[in-house]
Amino acid sequence: MKKNMFNSSGPRNLVIVVLVIVGSLWLLTKVVDPKRNTEEYKYSQFLEMVEKGGIKVATVSGPLIVGTTKDGKRFETIMPADQGVWEKLAKNKVEFSVANPQTDINVWQILLFVSFLIGLLIVWYVFRQSKGGASGSGSNVFTMGKSRAKMFLPSTIKEKFTSVAGATEAKEELLDVVDFLKNPEKYKRLGAKITRGALLVGAPGNGKTLLARAVAGEANCPFFSISGSDFIEVFVGVGASRVRDLFAQARKHAPCIIFIDEIDAVGRHRGSGLGGGNDEREQTLNQLLTEMDGFETSKDPVIVLAATNRPDVLDSALLRPGRFDRRIEVPYPDLVSREQILKVHAGNVQIDPELDLKKVARGTPGFSGADLANLINEATIIASKKNQQMVTMQDIEEARDKVLLGKELKTIALSEDERKMTAFHEAGHALIRLLLPKVMDPLHKVTIIPRGRSLGVTHSMPEREKYSSNKEEMLAFVRSALGGRIAEEIVFNTIATGAGDDFVKATDTVRDMVCRYGMSEKLGPIVYSQQQGGFVYSQETAKLIDDEVLRITNACYADAKKMLEDNRDKLDVLANALLEKETMYASEIYELLGIAPREDHKLI
Ligand code: ADP
Ligand code: ZN
Repeated sequence: MKKNMFNSSGPRNLVIVVLVIVGSLWLLTKVVDPKRNTEEYKYSQFLEMVEKGGIKVATVSGPLIVGTTKDGKRFETIMPADQGVWEKLAKNKVEFSVANPQTDINVWQILLFVSFLIGLLIVWYVFRQSKGGASGSGSNVFTMGKSRAKMFLPSTIKEKFTSVAGATEAKEELLDVVDFLKNPEKYKRLGAKITRGALLVGAPGNGKTLLARAVAGEANCPFFSISGSDFIEVFVGVGASRVRDLFAQARKHAPCIIFIDEIDAVGRHRGSGLGGGNDEREQTLNQLLTEMDGFETSKDPVIVLAATNRPDVLDSALLRPGRFDRRIEVPYPDLVSREQILKVHAGNVQIDPELDLKKVARGTPGFSGADLANLINEATIIASKKNQQMVTMQDIEEARDKVLLGKELKTIALSEDERKMTAFHEAGHALIRLLLPKVMDPLHKVTIIPRGRSLGVTHSMPEREKYSSNKEEMLAFVRSALGGRIAEEIVFNTIATGAGDDFVKATDTVRDMVCRYGMSEKLGPIVYSQQQGGFVYSQETAKLIDDEVLRITNACYADAKKMLEDNRDKLDVLANALLEKETMYASEIYELLGIAPREDHKLI
C-alpha cells in the first residue's frame, strides 16, 4: 500500500514524503509539548496560591515563573520586578530554583529539530542510493537521478517524413541523419565524422518534435524524448545525473535518437541567469557537453536532436563542432506548405468536396503547423455540433476566427499592411541584387515568412562574405542592404523601423571599406583601428571617417533608389508575387521578371 502510493516516480513524491515528515513532527511537538496543560496564572493569583501554600515547585527564569501546584497542575506566570518574591516563596516552603534565561530554550524543540534534520538526510541518502536499483519502467519512487526521458520503441512511432508536410529543406537535411542511423557501418568503414547533434530552430508548433519523431520513424530506431526543463530540479546534481542516465540508456539502445525539447532551458550562456542560483543549470549543461564529447558516434550511433526558438541565448560551447554543429531551420509554413499541412490534417475528416484548401491556406498567413491542425480540429467540432455530415468552408471560417483569437495573445499574425510592407521590403533587397550582379551572394530565395521571435519583417539579407570581396562588390552589397528601406519609402512614402538590422550591416560594411581596407581615396590606404572601444586616432580623423562613411552610404542610397524607381514595374510584380507565394526561389523570380539568370546562379 505504502509502496503504491509512491509508485509514480519522480521528485514530486519526495516533496510529499518531506511534507508528511514535517507534518508528523509538527504534530509530535504539539503532543509532547511540555507547555501543554499549563495554566497561565495572573501574578496576583500566583501570590495568593503561594500564600495559601498551594504551590509545590517554582522555577524562576527572568520574569517567567513556571512550576507545579500541590495538586500536580502545571502553571506559569509573568512576574513584575518584585523583590519580595523570594521571601514569600521561602516563607511558604515552596521548592524554588532560578534558571538561566539564556539557556532556557526548550530542549524538546532542539531534539525534534535535530531528529528532523537527520530524518531528512536519511531520506535523501536512500533516494540517491537506490536510484541504481530502479528498473527502466520508471515504476519506482527512487528515480530521482534517473532521467525523466520517455522512451518510444520503433513499433510505437507512427511518424514518417510523409507525416510532415512542407518543411522540405529541414527534411532534406535530416535525410543524412536517417541514413546514418540506418547504415552506421557504411560510415564507420571510412571513419567518417558524422554529426552528433543538430539543432532544430523555429517557433513553437512548426513541427520540430514531429520532424524528430519522423527521423526515428524513418530510421526505425528508438526515440528518447525529454524537455530541457525536465533536467532542472531544485536539488543540485539531479539534472546532471539525469543527463548521465539518459545517455547511458540511449547508448544501450543505440542506434537511437535523443530529442531534447526547449534546450534553452539548460543551454543558456553560463553565468547569464538572474540571481546566483544557476549552479544546477550549469552543472547540467556541463554534463550534457561532457556526454556529447564522450561518445564514439560510430560505435554507439546516438544522435541528439534539440529544439529551440532561442538559438541566440544558447551557450556557444553547445554549438561547437562535434556537438550541435548543424542548425536546421523549421520556419512558419509558406502558402504551399500550409495547403499541404491542411491536407494532412483534413485527411481523416469528412470534408465538403467544395471546400478549397488552397483558399484556406491563403487566408491563414502566419499560422503555424499546430495552428492549422487546430483549425481543422475546431472546424470539425463546429460541424459536429451542428450535426453536419461534413466540414464546410463556413465552419472553417468560424474556426479561423476562434484560432486567431487565441493566437493574438501569444503571437501576432501579420496584418495585411505589414505583409505588404514586408513584401516590398524584401522585393527591394532582391531586385537590387538581381540588377547588380556584383553582389557577392547569388540570390537563393526570398521570403516574407516571419522567422524566429521577431514576427515582423524578415530580413533575408545574408551576412556579407567577409573574405575576397572587392570594392565593387562591397558597394553593391551596401546598395542591396539599403534596398529594403528604399522600396518601402518609394511605395508607401513612410519610414518604418523594420530596417534597423539592414542599416547595421550597410554601415559596418562601409566603415570596413574606409577604416580597414583603405578603399576611400580621401582617407587613403591606411588602417584606422579601433581598440577596445577607444579610437587610436584623433578627433579630427574620427570626423573625417564619419563624413566619408556618410558620403559613401548616401551615394549608395541615391543609386539604389534610382535603380528601384527605374524598375518600379518589376518591384511591383515581384512584391505582389511574394504576397501571393510568400517564398520564391531564384529561378522562379528570374522567370517572373524576365531577367537572364546570372552565370553563377545556374549552379544552384
Ligand atoms: P514544435 O515541436 O515545433 O513546437 P510540434 O512538432 O509539436 O511543434 O507540432 C505540433 C503539431 O502541429 C504536430 O503534432 C502536428 O499535428 C502539427 N504540425 C506542425 N507542423 C506540421 C507539419 N509540417 N505537417 C503536419 N503537421 C504539422
Ligand atoms: Zn531588410
